[in-house]
Amino acid sequence: MKFDMHVHTVISPCSQLTLEEILSSAGERGLDGVCITDHDSMEVRRFLQEGVQSNGLCVIFGMEYATPDGDFLIFGSFEEIRKNLTAPELLRHVQSSGGVAVSAHPFRANRSTREYLIHEGLCTIVEGINGRNLHVENDRVAAWQKRYGVKQVGGSDAHSREELGKISTIFKDTIRNRADFVSALKEGCFYPARNNQTTILPIPLHQAIAA
Ligand SMILES: [Zn+2]
Ligand SMILES: [Zn+2]
Repeated sequence: MKFDMHVHTVISPCSQLTLEEILSSAGERGLDGVCITDHDSMEVRRFLQEGVQSNGLCVIFGMEYATPDGDFLIFGSFEEIRKNLTAPELLRHVQSSGGVAVSAHPFRANRSTREYLIHEGLCTIVEGINGRNLHVENDRVAAWQKRYGVKQVGGSDAHSREELGKISTIFKDTIRNRADFVSALKEGCFYPARNNQTTILPIPLHQAIAA
């Protein structure tokens, strides 16, 4: 199943993307599912029933939680989570309550994840492709994969209709609800994918020189 697991609705002050637009355009972008990850909010639950919708799209509610040491996509029972936790407090809470945390855009210039959190095993899944990152920022995740064996997902980080589904995560398992989604992340059978075939990938330096 193909999920865009990093999507902001207008509940996030910085986003112009409405829930209606997500529900109506996800299918044509080839998505089977979407995770709503508004900034520090799961208020989306007031406007929509979570799970498989009448058009077949699976919608999962998560949250993008900001800490001074990095931003994390969290999935689990976090509707009432305390605000202003430090990154270690957040990640320990997520682990002990059976949820999953994903380091969002870990190498984005001004919203990066501090390496000690990965080194200490507090977070083992990272967003290897983020739709709003520069290629060079995404490419740096490879070093953490080598060093720590982190698993990688992909998300568009959509704040507008155009961005929805640009990047996705492909899951081996069938996902119908939040519990399925959390289990699939824990099992680790997934990989990130770029959906926009027109994206021009940077030419590796040695090829550029040869040309
Ligand atoms: Zn935002
Ligand atoms: Zn985001």
